[in-house]
Amino acid sequence: MIDKLDLNTKARELREVFGEDANSPVDIFALANQIEGLSIVYYPLGDRISGMCVRDDSVKLIAVNSTMSYGRQRFSLAHEFYHLYFGDLSGFHVCAKKFDPKSEAEKMADQFASYFIAPYKSLRAMVKKICKNGTLSLSDVIALEQYFGMSHQAMLWRLILEGYLNRNDWDDYAAGVVLAARSLGYDDKLYRPTEASLQKRTYGYYLKQVEELRQKDLVSAGKLDELLLDAFREDIVFGDDSETGGEAFD
Ligand SMILES: [Zn+2]
Repeated sequence: MIDKLDLNTKARELREVFGEDANSPVDIFALANQIEGLSIVYYPLGDRISGMCVRDDSVKLIAVNSTMSYGRQRFSLAHEFYHLYFGDLSGFHVCAKKFDPKSEAEKMADQFASYFIAPYKSLRAMVKKICKNGTLSLSDVIALEQYFGMSHQAMLWRLILEGYLNRNDWDDYAAGVVLAARSLGYDDKLYRPTEASLQKRTYGYYLKQVEELRQKDLVSAGKLDELLLDAFREDIVFGDDSETGGEAFD
């Protein structure tokens, strides 16, 4: 039996560790970059895997499937936080994309992710604010997921679990989301995957280590390039920023 209260408490505690308050939307990618010793790999992991987490005495690594929507990647990253902070001290987790059916540990990681992105009290307050007539419309669901930065499926799943929507409503709320969101004036970023040229990237600790090797002059320039290319960082090796439209310092 999953202890939802405990998972909501864990999510709140981890928010505190990151210096976040208990209710506001969070920039989860920025939080991941704060975690000491963590390398983050974005990679097309196929249709069935959402992410991975490797943790032992010497390695902390999270991988996220970059072909999933931005909203789903946010959810997946929060799911991997659960493995990183509350799972076994060492381990290797490969996490399935499907929400159901799953092992108990995976369900707990999903529930934790849902609370981390949209805390229980905060979601309840937003539903009350947005939903005037007692029944959530598709526009209301979109407003909620846009506010918290959660994927549409993850938001539907959560609203059903908390009794705001009925499981039979799923199909009615699952179609035409992107067009509806655009028509309501939202950016559609939440529903789009990472652009193709950026789908393979490593960030975080690995890069810091390579930079340290460079600064201490410990390995050859060729080896440094090799290490960066292994991490899909051609952009650093070749200094090519044309794909992202150049730099802006404003
Ligand atoms: Zn998992």
